[in-house]
Amino acid sequence: METKYPEVKNYISGKFSGPGKKTLAVLSPLTGNNISTVPLSSSSDLDQAVVSAKKAWPEWAAVPIKERVQIFYRYKTLLENNIHELTELVHVENGKTMAEARAEIEKSIELTEFACSLPQLVAGEVMEVSRGVECRVDYKPLGVVASIAPFNFPHMVPHWTIPNAIALGNCMILKPSEQVPLSSNRIAEMLAEAGLPPGVFNVVNGDKEIVEAICDHPGIEAVSFVGSTKVAKVVYKRATSNLKRCLALGGAKNHLIVLPDAHPDMTASNVTASMSGCAGQRCMAASAMVAVGNTDVIIQKICDEAKKIIPGENLGSVISKEAKERIERYITEAEKAGAKVLVDGRNWKVKGNENGFYVGPTVIDYVTPGMAIATEEVFGPVLAIIRAKDLDEALQIENNSPYGNAASVFTQSGGMARQVMENASAGMIGVNIGVPVPREPFSFGGWNESKFGAGDITGISSIGFWTKLKKTSVKWNPEAKTNWMS
Ligand code: NAD
Repeated sequence: METKYPEVKNYISGKFSGPGKKTLAVLSPLTGNNISTVPLSSSSDLDQAVVSAKKAWPEWAAVPIKERVQIFYRYKTLLENNIHELTELVHVENGKTMAEARAEIEKSIELTEFACSLPQLVAGEVMEVSRGVECRVDYKPLGVVASIAPFNFPHMVPHWTIPNAIALGNCMILKPSEQVPLSSNRIAEMLAEAGLPPGVFNVVNGDKEIVEAICDHPGIEAVSFVGSTKVAKVVYKRATSNLKRCLALGGAKNHLIVLPDAHPDMTASNVTASMSGCAGQRCMAASAMVAVGNTDVIIQKICDEAKKIIPGENLGSVISKEAKERIERYITEAEKAGAKVLVDGRNWKVKGNENGFYVGPTVIDYVTPGMAIATEEVFGPVLAIIRAKDLDEALQIENNSPYGNAASVFTQSGGMARQVMENASAGMIGVNIGVPVPREPFSFGGWNESKFGAGDITGISSIGFWTKLKKTSVKWNPEAKTNWMS
């Protein structure tokens, strides 16, 4: 399988460089084959990127925002015109299906579209606060900022941060996941083609070492991170201890509460799509279904739906051999602990791609709240069904999770839905929706151990993260009375 990027490079000052002294092989999870290499950059590579971004920043920050977003209008058109090629890149490096990869690029387009609306949202405020004296508030960029991304959305997650941060006047350093670094090279090319000046957007590839260097670098003002909770905690602590702004999104364990009055077909198709989409590698995926009372008909329908999902056809691969082994281990341990595997996705081989990393959809019933599969993030196409006697018990199970990204309820009762909307301990709630991602301009972000830091990463809430407020009081009229306030 050939790609346009047999060697992923760093992108600094508008130029690609590399591959550097240390590199890592990049495999396509679809086949298990080597498709590229990625540089494991050093802190001196990061220094160069910070120097480049710092140099570009004063001029970029001085460009009026209405002019800055013109670049993103052009960039959006480039995304639209190149959607097929971008889709293939995500499909090959991440392993999700072409349809899912295309949906990912469409989401990047929507995120870019939102950035184009920022001038309307950051029009400052001005008011005459006493006679002849006015106060005004302006949104000012921070300077050089960094964005650290996970493997599961190589194109979309970088677009959670790039368009907004840059349109708001910052210069950015992106650290893509070393498992899926190819899309970031294409993003850099296309931003340059859209007219972004050199140094405003930079890519520094690498692993843990470069993430730590970002958290420590005195030239970086703010760090956004998306990845597992374990790493999110480390990044949040390290970046904030270096007095940086930080927003670190972590992992998830999302509960879907299914009540006996739920619409059977709609519920079954939503639950199945939520747990299996992107091979379960979504921080919004259904991971645990809490079945309240008798929902056997719905569970049967979920199994029927799951059996129609075939790896290599309408289900992509998981990211790596290690991920496949980890997911299968969770299933086996749950089975040993007494859970019942209704649909078994272990030991899948896709004909023609025997070395790819595939796990079939898996449905496990009679999982108990104490089992690892009930509490830990599995990140695979696996649904753990936990039985609960009533809604209070179901909410208790949901509330006990340390995570808090998403929770959904399936019911035809407004009153029951309302109880979940009020009492689930999660940042994003769905009612009869299996993947309750808020779309722009609403913001994306969880609660509890699914997010560290104030505000959300996308939508209107992100403006607060990428800017600081300047408050100016003005008096031109010499006759205006002077008092201690003005
Ligand atoms: P990860 O935490 O392993 O890696 C994320 C980033 O951190 C990568 O760029 C990686 O290079 C870097 N990294 C890895 N280990 C590190 C360490 N020890 N120290 C410093 N940096 C390190 O996450 P992943 O496996 O790439 O992505 C999957 C995880 O991301 C899942 O837990 C998923 O739920 C989460 N995720 C969360 C959201 C959200 O919105 N909350 C969105 C997407 C993914």
